[in-house]
Amino acid sequence: MSRSKFSQRHCGYCNKTTRMEMMGEMTTTPGKSWVRCTRCHHMTLVTVIDTSKADDANLDASKATPYNPEQTFRIGEAIFHSEWNDVGKVLSKVRTSSGSQAIVVSFEKEGQKTLVENLR
Ligand SMILES: [Zn+2]
Repeated sequence: MSRSKFSQRHCGYCNKTTRMEMMGEMTTTPGKSWVRCTRCHHMTLVTVIDTSKADDANLDASKATPYNPEQTFRIGEAIFHSEWNDVGKVLSKVRTSSGSQAIVVSFEKEGQKTLVENLR
């Protein structure tokens, strides 16, 4: 992966779109990252969920992670459900009424499904 540390973002201090330097993802809040404006050097917290990949219409079963209830998954991750022979993309994470972790997956054939993850 060769993603640039710099990206064009709107700086609230400069009130214009400037070059922002990626300072690294917050460990406590995944998907949020600090960026620093290269003009005024103010730090801003931004959402860095990669939407460029989320628009892929066709999911590749060979590249998808096989679904396993004991595993944890990331939002946007492609997963393969062997029982249904279907691939889907993780849309969000939820907590079930029983208190366990679950993922909401949009499958190509089965549609939207909620699957248990991080099962112990
Ligand atoms: Zn700025």
